[in-house]
Amino acid sequence: MKKIVVLLIFLLWQGPAFAQVDTVQRVIADRYNSPAQQEKPYVILISADGFRYDYADKYDARFLKGMRAEGVEAESMLPAFPSKTFPNHYSIVTGLYPSSHGLINNHFYDPQRKEHYSMRDRSKVEDGSWYGGTPLWVLAEQQQMLAASFFWVGSEAPIQGILSTYHYIYNEVIPIERRIQTVVDWLELPEEKRPHLITFYLPEVDHAGHRYGPEAPETRQAVQDLDKHMQMLTEAVAQTGLPVNYVFVSDHGMLAVDTKNTLPMPAAIDTSKFMVSGGGMVVELHAKDKKAVKPTYRKLKKEAKEYAVYTKKKMPKHLRYGTKDDKYGRIGDILLLTDAPKVFHFSSRPPAPGQHGYDATKVKEMHTVFYAWGPAFKQGIKVESFRNVDVYPVIAEILGLPYTHKIDGSRHLVEKTLK
Ligand code: AMP
Ligand code: ZN
Ligand code: ZN
Repeated sequence: MKKIVVLLIFLLWQGPAFAQVDTVQRVIADRYNSPAQQEKPYVILISADGFRYDYADKYDARFLKGMRAEGVEAESMLPAFPSKTFPNHYSIVTGLYPSSHGLINNHFYDPQRKEHYSMRDRSKVEDGSWYGGTPLWVLAEQQQMLAASFFWVGSEAPIQGILSTYHYIYNEVIPIERRIQTVVDWLELPEEKRPHLITFYLPEVDHAGHRYGPEAPETRQAVQDLDKHMQMLTEAVAQTGLPVNYVFVSDHGMLAVDTKNTLPMPAAIDTSKFMVSGGGMVVELHAKDKKAVKPTYRKLKKEAKEYAVYTKKKMPKHLRYGTKDDKYGRIGDILLLTDAPKVFHFSSRPPAPGQHGYDATKVKEMHTVFYAWGPAFKQGIKVESFRNVDVYPVIAEILGLPYTHKIDGSRHLVEKTLK
């Protein structure tokens, strides 16, 4: 009896929280594949968030190791700067650097709009006006090819007014078995309703990496579980007999950071003069009055230890995060970049032992994976490290989706990896 009462109290307490989670599939009616698109192959684009370039070998992800050997394996894939989730997932599907597509960080300030974007603010995440470029699913739908998304950054917002035909509002409560079954159900729809591009996102490896660090047994376990889920997905999809291509990627890696000696807010920053955003390894300062930029920059340069200070104008070119790159005017006037494994820490909660966000050209631990297999891909191919903006042309090519807009990625992988 006591147990039942405790359970009831628990349910009453948790009830509203559960009730708030939206797990309903959104389906846009009256959309059909054109007859020409029905002849096309299929692509499942999968991201396991925070899957570092060396995890499959380090943690013996047997299934993934087997599949990459049958298809294409990159030495590693480089995320764009900053190596965070929102900028990089959106770079993968647009072929654009963060400064070109507008999602310059997980949280940022837009001085023209006088508004903050945050990945935790649903009203921003679902507002298409924040998102530039043409995501692959928009490209597909524009050409009368249906797309589906079991999560991806940007997939919940109408971008250029277009959402994928099938999609979900991001949540972490739908069990993996149900998610896999949904993908199979999509592929078993009649040809005119069957999506040819499916995005699929898994957060668990990133969660473990943050909470326990990239070297922890819990992270090994998360990689092992992910490997099992990838096998379940692939075997279930194989039952459909359809020509399905798999592109397995991630947004960034993970580094064990220095949690003992974190960097406090530099004394030179007067928060009445600057809007401060970011944290960890990248802090952005937006001047309320541009006159404050130079003197503060000079003070910061004098004070700076274990981090670099740049004005937006003088940002290192290879980061594509300077004044010339800043299409949406969202990058800060002054940027502070810590030296790995140092992090800024401004909150009262303890810092996470695993973090990411550093310049991937300097910190190898930020590199991630690209494994691809299926009928469109050459077999047993190894390619050198490349940048994630180069994935877009490969997927567009497999699906036969032409585009005329400019992207930052190059087509060099198309020849190298496709049959
Ligand atoms: P990061 O620390 O940059 O790796 O951010 C990872 C977090 O992004 C994960 O914990 C996910 O819960 C979250 N995330 C991923 N996709 C979405 C989405 N579409 N909407 C909201 N949050 C998301
Ligand atoms: Zn991430
Ligand atoms: Zn993360």
